[in-house]
Amino acid sequence: MSVASKYDAIVIGAGHNGLTAAAYLGGAGLSTLVLERREIIGGCCVTEEIAPGCRASTTSYIASMLRPEVIRDLELASHGLRMVPCDPALQVPFPDGDVVPWWTDRARLLSELRKISVKDSETFVRVDDQLKKLARYLQPFFLEPPPELAADGLQGWWNLLRVGKRFRGITNSEIAQLVSFLTGSLGEFLDHNYESEKIKTLFLANNVYGKHGGPYDSGSALGLLFHLLSGGEHELQGFYGHVIGGMGSITQALAAAARRRGVEIRTSTAVARIDVRDGRVRGVVLEDGTEIAANTILSNADPKRTFLCLVEPKSLPEDFHRAVESIRMNGPCAKVNFVLAEEPRLNGMPRNASAAQRSLFTLVPSLEFAERCYDIAKFGDIPQQLWVDCVVASNVDDTLAPKGRHIMTCFVQYVPYFLRSGTWDENRELLGDRVVKKIAEYAPNVPHAIVARQVLTPLDLERTYGLTEGNIFHGDLALEQLFFMRPVPGWSQYRSPIAGLYLCGAGAHPGGGVTGAPGHNAAFQVLRDLRRRHRGATA
Ligand SMILES: Cc1cc2nc3c(=O)[nH]c(=O)nc-3n(C[C@H](O)[C@H](O)[C@H](O)COP(=O)(O)OP(=O)(O)OC[C@H]3O[C@@H](n4cnc5c(N)ncnc54)[C@H](O)[C@@H]3O)c2cc1C
Repeated sequence: MSVASKYDAIVIGAGHNGLTAAAYLGGAGLSTLVLERREIIGGCCVTEEIAPGCRASTTSYIASMLRPEVIRDLELASHGLRMVPCDPALQVPFPDGDVVPWWTDRARLLSELRKISVKDSETFVRVDDQLKKLARYLQPFFLEPPPELAADGLQGWWNLLRVGKRFRGITNSEIAQLVSFLTGSLGEFLDHNYESEKIKTLFLANNVYGKHGGPYDSGSALGLLFHLLSGGEHELQGFYGHVIGGMGSITQALAAAARRRGVEIRTSTAVARIDVRDGRVRGVVLEDGTEIAANTILSNADPKRTFLCLVEPKSLPEDFHRAVESIRMNGPCAKVNFVLAEEPRLNGMPRNASAAQRSLFTLVPSLEFAERCYDIAKFGDIPQQLWVDCVVASNVDDTLAPKGRHIMTCFVQYVPYFLRSGTWDENRELLGDRVVKKIAEYAPNVPHAIVARQVLTPLDLERTYGLTEGNIFHGDLALEQLFFMRPVPGWSQYRSPIAGLYLCGAGAHPGGGVTGAPGHNAAFQVLRDLRRRHRGATA
């Protein structure tokens, strides 16, 4: 066993949040080391070769909520980050051959909606304004720790004041709307406001993304607000962006920003254990037995992996341990990536459609379909009929594949981690085949154009990317696991019961997605705590 040098801070994991945290800590002058178990950095925000010369965003594939503050503070553009807005932001083809795009320009979108229902197009303006206004109340919470439930005295008052300030000016009816968005179902909200099934489906297409629950489950309306939090360089509400070079360009830019701030990053270096003595972290022990000392450790691994695998149970209070065990994971998504010899030719796609319009389509025909799909998955079966979100990234990014090759990534909504019968190793290709079958219903040329296929089941997401039970958000984004309940009640401010150990990944507030927010917030919490300790020591 060899003991290496000592750092001010160690970050376990080089996902985008770990790198974000490290860059801020390095910028504040802390000697910081990032340790990543995989041979590449990026976690679930990566570009990988899936066939010779062909690269894909193997896991996350659209940047929508990357915090503008992180982009600016860490000067990611100067490190090569370039995003082009998705326009349309999303698009749904229907079995009858209609293709309905959601244009980013409101007038253009309205003219599209009017073709389907004049009444719904009018409702859209009212509801969209209302949603955008409500989302603005929530926006500031993204980049700050939630109020701590257990805080009392001065801290308790400060928390109350902080929350109160954010909601200054909110009206009674807005409070009622906010509560119904937080607790209500997307399906009921849409049924109540819209008459056209197609327009309802358009809303569905990206609003229960990656989470548990069908559109009629309570809490599913929350996605409507989440996706209106502004993102991208220009702080646009409802921004969706293709990242040139794939999502890995985000983490490459973050790594470059971190290195410029003095951060050291090591890959193929898995942490086996966090060394805890007398209730405080002392460092980490690597899988090869090497010990590295640090008084501050930030874990970018998910809460279950961090507290149930890297820390000995005796170091944690029993109730905390139990709360972490109860965090809901269990899938519920998969990803299938393709290299194609020709572009998908979607039934009903206008002849003059731009490359950007041809670059994305979501295959989910109705709310009822989605609800049934979740019901099947929740009992441990792989639905015959899948909900598939397709992005043909090579249409807007010629850096991904040579001429004549096309990259299509497909996100599959609602598959279980725990299968009722069989294993994912036995069912991997079956899942891939069902995805191809679904796509062929809308783009019949695809099956014969497949040059390479990569199927990532929830088990593969766990094995390869380190996501416990394959959960893409390090814990479901349900109300009972959000805000001051994330990762577990009483510990929402990035700290843990072990002094010096912090959580900096998607399992912490505000949750999953490529945002950089948990990493940013955790770093600032560490810096505040260090300043406090320093003041205490010099007083
Ligand atoms: C299939 C899929 C599709 C998605 N699509 C989108 C999308 O389009 N848009 C979007 O915004 N979000 C999307 N997401 C969600 C988003 O990618 C994640 O929520 C986010 O990237 C999590 O980032 P993170 O940095 O917190 O954690 P991760 O990216 O999970 O990084 C954690 C890192 O820690 C490392 N690690 C774990 N344990 C150890 C250890 N013991 N030692 C060393 N290193 C360790 C892991 O290898 C990993 O690199 C998707 C995710 C998946 C999986």
